[in-house]
Amino acid sequence: MIPLQTTRLPWMTEDIAMFRDAARRFIEGELAPHCERWRKQGFVDREVWRKVGEMGMLLPELDEEWGGAGGNLAHQLVMVEELGRAEVPVSTSVHTIAAHYILDYGTDEQKRRWLPKMASGELLAGIAMTEPDAGSDLQGIRTRAVRDGDDYVINGAKTFITNGATAHLLVVVVRTSAEKGGKGLSLIVLETEGLAGFRVGRILDKIGQKGSDTAELFFDDVRVPAANLLGGAEGQAFAQLMSQLPYERMLLAVLAIAVIERALELTIDYTKERKAFGQTVFDFQNTRHKLAECATTAHVMRVFVNDCIQRLLDGRLDATAAYMAKSWCSEQQCKVLDECLQFFGGYGYMSEYPIARLWADARVQKIYGGTNEIMKELIARAL
Ligand SMILES: Cc1cc2nc3c(=O)[nH]c(=O)nc-3n(C[C@H](O)[C@H](O)[C@H](O)COP(=O)(O)OP(=O)(O)OC[C@H]3O[C@@H](n4cnc5c(N)ncnc54)[C@H](O)[C@@H]3O)c2cc1C
Repeated sequence: MIPLQTTRLPWMTEDIAMFRDAARRFIEGELAPHCERWRKQGFVDREVWRKVGEMGMLLPELDEEWGGAGGNLAHQLVMVEELGRAEVPVSTSVHTIAAHYILDYGTDEQKRRWLPKMASGELLAGIAMTEPDAGSDLQGIRTRAVRDGDDYVINGAKTFITNGATAHLLVVVVRTSAEKGGKGLSLIVLETEGLAGFRVGRILDKIGQKGSDTAELFFDDVRVPAANLLGGAEGQAFAQLMSQLPYERMLLAVLAIAVIERALELTIDYTKERKAFGQTVFDFQNTRHKLAECATTAHVMRVFVNDCIQRLLDGRLDATAAYMAKSWCSEQQCKVLDECLQFFGGYGYMSEYPIARLWADARVQKIYGGTNEIMKELIARAL
């Protein structure tokens, strides 16, 4: 499509290139054919996670000791890109973030218990932070976990939780004390199958990302062993959540660039075929100029994202750059998708056209993972 030549960075190894090819083949052959059904039912079949796990593509970045394929974060980022390109709503992003909380803060026992099953797809994970009255401002979290002997007893509600209805393992942000700031918040891991008092509410009807389940969760005197507290000490949630920020933001930035590149491919192909006024839509100067601008955005973004990935792998990606990557890439994603959709005319508004779905799917990228307004607040603090 676009003859993109970018500097070859050290992370772009032969192994990564082979992994990308294998992931693309697997996704196109085994997952993409089911997307239409998943979009209709509003979630991905649970068995699919096992399939992805068997391929070593669910948590490829984990060491073999923990059930992974011994790769690095670039393997996961490549996987997220390829899933995004193919519009496959398997949210490995949330799954990998949950795994990294456990990897970084779990006790050996917790890691042994959960990570291998997460890598194989036996356990699918979600992260439950947001509540009906607390999204951007996590200090407003009210879901309480009260210590009772060897257990915590949890009461409260969460909403907008990705994988919420299908996950078997939830990393839940709970209030363990009334202390102000982040000090009163902790992460507790819940195994949800057959868990008394735990209830999944509605799978929410979204304007996009139709195949990904986003659900309400309710906790009514849910009893969890105190051993499920992540990190073993209360009040650590903020520090634990913060430490993964660069990686989490990059998961959204790589999705943005992958989708932009896909949208451009679709739009260039379509406009070169579609005729109006005796020529192709691509032949209109407006089309060529707009697509030239979009292709330039894509190129600049690809270079930036590639550089951020290298810095992430080198342990040099600061949080501010990651906030920039998340907010800027998602903004460009929405802009480019809107430009591209326009060239499809009425067909661009039909859900059966991939461009329409990619456009609708893009919108949430500016909202979740920390809204772009919050990202800009955080960037501004570093100025
Ligand atoms: C599809 C989807 C999937 C999601 N998945 C998950 C998940 O897996 N787990 C999870 O925990 N959450 C998830 N979320 C929730 C998401 O992270 C929140 O919606 C997001 O953090 C915003 O919170 P809110 O919706 O409460 O908006 P609010 O916090 O109420 O914000 C409303 C508006 O006010 C603005 N605003 C708020 N504070 C400020 C400020 N200080 N300065 C300037 N503007 C401000 C916001 O930017 C926004 O525009 C998901 C959401 C969606 C839509």
